[in-house]
Amino acid sequence: MQPQRDLAIVLRSIPYQERHRIVTALTEGHGQVTALARNSIQSRRFGGTLDLFAAAEWQFVERPGAEFWNLSEAQIRRAFEGIRKDFERLSLASVFNELMLKIAPRHEACPELFRLHSNALAALDEADESSFAGSEVVLLNAYLAKLLQWNGSQPRIDCCLSCGITIDRFAAGDSSSEKMTCRISEAGWNCPACRTAQTSHLKDGQGIRDALLRISRDAIVDFQICLMMPIRQVPKAVQAKRVDHLELFQFLEALLIYHVPGFDRQPLKGLRFLSLRVESPPV
Ligand SMILES: [Zn+2]
Repeated sequence: MQPQRDLAIVLRSIPYQERHRIVTALTEGHGQVTALARNSIQSRRFGGTLDLFAAAEWQFVERPGAEFWNLSEAQIRRAFEGIRKDFERLSLASVFNELMLKIAPRHEACPELFRLHSNALAALDEADESSFAGSEVVLLNAYLAKLLQWNGSQPRIDCCLSCGITIDRFAAGDSSSEKMTCRISEAGWNCPACRTAQTSHLKDGQGIRDALLRISRDAIVDFQICLMMPIRQVPKAVQAKRVDHLELFQFLEALLIYHVPGFDRQPLKGLRFLSLRVESPPV
């Protein structure tokens, strides 16, 4: 078969039989691909192109039906070295890689996912110290929101699912006010008034689980920003506090588990290194 060329970002790279590497990448034109890079451990032939996160132009030979394709050459396009500047960036970039390993289709072009992933890595690579501090949960939320969008589960977040009151009718920045109730199966929310009217006759398990997650008005507004804006611009545009974004993260995670095939309940390993859990107040 003729060698092909494609732009690839390394998601995972593991040694194989001492001298070789098996590299899984997200490519622009072939989706997720796993390739064998022969004699890549000792030789300098591949340079840094097989390192995690490296973006390179690959030349490879497809082997239909085979588990691995053969990688014959790679030329570095962008190493994203800034990702290794600190532990939070590296952890978040690892989470992005894990997400792609879970959901990017194999051998099927997914240019939107490729664009999202490369823009997200660029955001981590470029952010200076002061602008990155504290924005890791914002970037994570933006990434997850865009995965939902790619999957076709467009959340309905401009207004309450029951009464239709729009989110802009609630006062901004007032975190003491009552929160919106997350509706996971319908990918939307209910306002406090509708919750009060409905809670008494929630019967099925789904309703009860949904009713446990609540988020602030500001978090919903930022959710809209995450859906609309390019990921690199999101950290500068959002308004909600960190605690609001931590709650939004829980909502997004629940939405992905419910709506996106391949997104299971297995926790993402990289998340252990980022403190993203909301401390629940004692009941
Ligand atoms: Zn309502």
